[in-house]
Amino acid sequence: MERKILLSEEGLPKAWYNVQADLPRPLPPPIRPDTKKPISPEDLAPIFPMGLIEQEVSQDRWVEIPEEVREVLSLYRPTPLHRAINLEKALGTRARIYYKNESFSPPGSHKPNTAIAQVYYNKKEGVKRITTETGAGQWGSALAFACKMFGVACTIYMVKVSYEQKPYRRLLCQSWGAEMYPSPSDKTNFGRKVRQENPDCPGSLGIAISEAIEDAATHDDTKYSLGSVLNHVLMHQTVIGLETEKQLASIGEKPDVLIGCVGGGSNFAGLILPFIPRKLDGEKIRFLAVEPQSCPTLTRGLYKYDFGDTAGTTPLLKMFTLGHGFIPPGIHAGGLRYHGAAPIVSHLLDLGLIEAVAYHQTECFQAALLFARTEGFLPAPETSHAIKAAIDEAQKAEKDKVIVFNYSGHGLLDLSAYDSYFRGQLQDYAYPREKIEEALRQLPAVE
Ligand SMILES: *Cc1c(COP(=O)(O)O)cnc(C)c1O
Repeated sequence: MERKILLSEEGLPKAWYNVQADLPRPLPPPIRPDTKKPISPEDLAPIFPMGLIEQEVSQDRWVEIPEEVREVLSLYRPTPLHRAINLEKALGTRARIYYKNESFSPPGSHKPNTAIAQVYYNKKEGVKRITTETGAGQWGSALAFACKMFGVACTIYMVKVSYEQKPYRRLLCQSWGAEMYPSPSDKTNFGRKVRQENPDCPGSLGIAISEAIEDAATHDDTKYSLGSVLNHVLMHQTVIGLETEKQLASIGEKPDVLIGCVGGGSNFAGLILPFIPRKLDGEKIRFLAVEPQSCPTLTRGLYKYDFGDTAGTTPLLKMFTLGHGFIPPGIHAGGLRYHGAAPIVSHLLDLGLIEAVAYHQTECFQAALLFARTEGFLPAPETSHAIKAAIDEAQKAEKDKVIVFNYSGHGLLDLSAYDSYFRGQLQDYAYPREKIEEALRQLPAVE
């Protein structure tokens, strides 16, 4: 029985898988809030490079991964697939549990898989600087790392309260040479306006997004980058599932259920999308998306057109949403606090091809600690949701069953969250029904 299924560097995929080629119904397009018409590539050109805009709408099943991208990915890929033998024993289950270890990357999560690809296409089109926003810093650090690998400058607007209270990922970004600003900043018109109105504003992801987009749109050599949700991001993440397929095949295993936590949906999609054709061919395989009870987008949201950001500045995306005005409680899995979900993930749920489940944060921390005390690795609070679901699936299994989950990141920079748990300070937030209903009333009228 092998504990780690490893691939040589030859096993690094040569092409990304684009699920759009295989969807039984096409994806509803993003639309302009003013005209209510599908957006055109030119609408996006001020903020994204053409190479990525083309990938966003591509219908090709396979998109070649450029050699320069594979070279940087090979710093940490292929990542190990582990068999969680100790966890299986602790649970007394007959199920076999595997996890794909995306915490193995330099920033410690799956996010550089897309950051590297995005920086490459920007650089190829002459972009000199990339801007983005970050909350707790997972995406910021992934982009800072990727920019350094390609010699592109990186500007990060980090939510002010995180900038001040969570210094470690900020320092990681700075170690990779990124320019960091607490948001609201005095670098943009929007930031200055917010500061004038409220000098003590702690910032929010919505404000930081608006600042990063303004910075990119007002500088010719600068573009903006987004770490989840969009089609091209999910496609870049399919290296996860493509490697997992090879690793399982190499030991003769066939997965019964694949599991991932969902914030915007990129790590979940990265794992499961390459297996979608099996499901369409009639194979019995399940895909389980896991989200927090406090931000239950897929399990309680509506499948509607909504803005991608809180400020209501982006094109409208058809997705499961709690309303762009919904501000989830401040749970520790910051990466799962998004009001919407990727259009591809939402579409798959609407088609009945995937399932979704929601958990409270304390039961997830319990699962995380059982995992750390058996398998050794301490997971990110986001990842703990996938672990909790994998444990539940194993305990429900009547006969042997192959469960695979995505280990999206480590928790070594989230130790203060574990501190709160140990001190008994963690709360489970009940589903905030009224707040969600209020936010859903503000959905833009489209259909
Ligand atoms: C950002 C993040 C997530 C959530 O983002 P997705 O796009 O849904 O994958 C999950 N886990 C970790 C460790 C993250 O950093």
